[in-house]
Amino acid sequence: MAKNKGLGLPAQMGIGMILGVIAGLIAPYVSFDAQWFRPFGQLFINLVRMLVVPLVFATLVAGAASVSDISRLGRVAVKTLLFFFIGTGIACAFGLALADIFHPGLGLTIDTGAAAAKEVEPPSLVTVLMNIVPVNPMDSMAKGAMLQIIFFAIAMGFSLSMCGEKAKAVTDFFNGLAEVMIKMTGIVMLYAPIGVFALMAFTVAAQGLAVLVPLLKLIVLMYVGSILLIILFYFPCLKYSGISPKTFLKGFSEPLMTAFSTCSSAAALSSSLVSVERMGASRSVSSFAIPLGNTINMDGTAIYMGLVTIFAAEIFGIPMPFNTQVSVLLMALLASIGTIGVPGSGMIMITMIFTQVGIPLEAVAIVAGVDRILDMARTTVNVMGDATAAIFVSKLENDFDPARGAAMDDE
Ligand code: ASP
Repeated sequence: MAKNKGLGLPAQMGIGMILGVIAGLIAPYVSFDAQWFRPFGQLFINLVRMLVVPLVFATLVAGAASVSDISRLGRVAVKTLLFFFIGTGIACAFGLALADIFHPGLGLTIDTGAAAAKEVEPPSLVTVLMNIVPVNPMDSMAKGAMLQIIFFAIAMGFSLSMCGEKAKAVTDFFNGLAEVMIKMTGIVMLYAPIGVFALMAFTVAAQGLAVLVPLLKLIVLMYVGSILLIILFYFPCLKYSGISPKTFLKGFSEPLMTAFSTCSSAAALSSSLVSVERMGASRSVSSFAIPLGNTINMDGTAIYMGLVTIFAAEIFGIPMPFNTQVSVLLMALLASIGTIGVPGSGMIMITMIFTQVGIPLEAVAIVAGVDRILDMARTTVNVMGDATAAIFVSKLENDFDPARGAAMDDE
């Protein structure tokens, strides 16, 4: 991204965020209709989502094409998936443990009114696996079906690498397209401070602070769980990879603020991809781990699922013995895979768990009022988990090089 002499982009986004909170708090008192903020925020979300399909496709094809040794990609895939599962399991365990210790739902009686959520049926494993293979790759791209895009891009990258010289022009084309999309991401992010401002202003004005009070304990525990996961799991993995927490938070601040303010990991995907590479992750690993993680790895959502399940069980007086909690953890692994990177989707997927353990779906209505606040933490952690995986697996593959960022900036 362009080096400007004034404030850097992360600082501008931080200021946008703070001003957004202030504007959102003031708006109701000066009778300013918060709806005015909305299009400015939506514009940012549209711009970043516009980048996703071509950026992911181009970088992944280029990344896979650069791997001449096919077993390497297999290794990368296994390591990345293992990292995802372990991280999600730990995350959900944190959520369960915090709720077991602090009992956020005890003594709480909240009128759920007539609101009830619809139950979500988990798709069968065969359907999930079959759906990864696209019947028509163009259709997958048009729909933004990420797993199908990943599958086709890897197949194409491999085929390109096998064709060698004969297909050099096509490989060069994808390398070039990847650079163009990275550049475009930089340009779009210039709008981020305004987008973040508008999103925060709208959220704060629409939510008001009063809505937080009855569920304050739950909210605090969600943020504590997120911070614990970051400090106890992500930071050690990053340290092992040779990145200090400070360097990581600085280098990854754009996607983190994008995730926090949009509540959509899909919206943070493009800047995540660019940021981890700039910090030193290899393209072949990050172009695989980031989009895949964005789709299936949701650690923040897993914390939320553990926490809110116990919370809801406490409210409805449903016992949660240890073995039930273990099955909650296993279901959270699946439910978080099914969660898509858009606002509120974790709250829909949690009905899968509620149904299995016999919690009335009205429980969703109880947390719905504060879901945006919980989603901010969930999404931020979701995005951070993918980045940690990309960096950690790059390191395991001896392909982590902090000098990459300087090289990208010089181009
Ligand atoms: N909003 C989250 C995300 O985009 C998903 C969720 O609702 O848990 O990552």
